Amino acid sequence: MKARNALFAAFTLSTLATAVQAADEVVVYSARIDELIKPVFDAYTAKTGVKVKFITDKEAPLIARLKAEGANTPADMLITVDAGNLWQAEQAGVLQPTESEVIDANIPAQYRSSTDSWTGLSLRARTIFYSTERVKPQELSTYEALADKNWEGRLCLRTSKKVYNQSLTATLIEAHGAEKTEEIIKGWVNNLATDVFADDTALLQAIDAGQCDVGITNTYYYGRLHKQNPALKVKPFWPNQNDRGVHVNLAGAGVTQHAPHAEAARKLLEWMTTAEAQSLFADINQEYPANPAVQPSAEVASWGAFKADTVATEVAGKRQAEATMLMDRAGWQ
Ligand code: FE
Repeated sequence: MKARNALFAAFTLSTLATAVQAADEVVVYSARIDELIKPVFDAYTAKTGVKVKFITDKEAPLIARLKAEGANTPADMLITVDAGNLWQAEQAGVLQPTESEVIDANIPAQYRSSTDSWTGLSLRARTIFYSTERVKPQELSTYEALADKNWEGRLCLRTSKKVYNQSLTATLIEAHGAEKTEEIIKGWVNNLATDVFADDTALLQAIDAGQCDVGITNTYYYGRLHKQNPALKVKPFWPNQNDRGVHVNLAGAGVTQHAPHAEAARKLLEWMTTAEAQSLFADINQEYPANPAVQPSAEVASWGAFKADTVATEVAGKRQAEATMLMDRAGWQ
């Protein structure tokens, strides 16, 4: 009898240990570069003892994997960039709403899903960059004005296949309607100095090299390039300061629909919106914290303050299909 009790006690203890261990872990599918996310998870583990396991891939395969795995997924959280991608994940049914007073208090509503399926964690402006040799900032005003004749043969753009440009176009449609947006985009295409670029960095290098005078890219690519080459003859310009403001997008995350550790994932997500984690998450990629109480790094702040568009970032997802078709019609490759 004694032996049986001991065995029973041992069994109960080991079951309990397994349950505790399982809760002390969060599994993340991440579309962010390893180096940009590992320090954040390491800090969380050091603080709480909760292990964070993560795998890295592009957003499309990660969303497809979550769909295929369904209720059997080991993943508790999805991290990716661009509201357009997070919206796609939400539409695919792989995220669940996370109601949290902490997240609501830390992150402005425009940077969260209206169904609480995801929240932004860091912000990047997709803004105008210009050659300091061939352009005076006074010549610049708005995204729309880059369609004017005086920029003919001087503009560089990245491919319309990239979600960043689809999101930018989606917000233009939201502001102006489809007809006027198509006119603007046709003007941009008409002003191109050369074929569209495969990435933002190559575009910035083309401005520096004299291939074009102006272009549109995300701020952190400029930050990286400027760090490598402080003599870069390119600077950011903040457009639309007299109307809706600069186009801002985000990197963000949501708890997966079938998260085995949903509660632990919610806690990690909440922590990622706090001051402690926000600097870590944003500064490492030279982004802006999504929590407005947290200051950007000195380097990012040195680019100057700007008024950001207040449109809900999920518009990027809602109007993505419309934007893609419009860009195609307007001849944006
Ligand atoms: Fe990027």
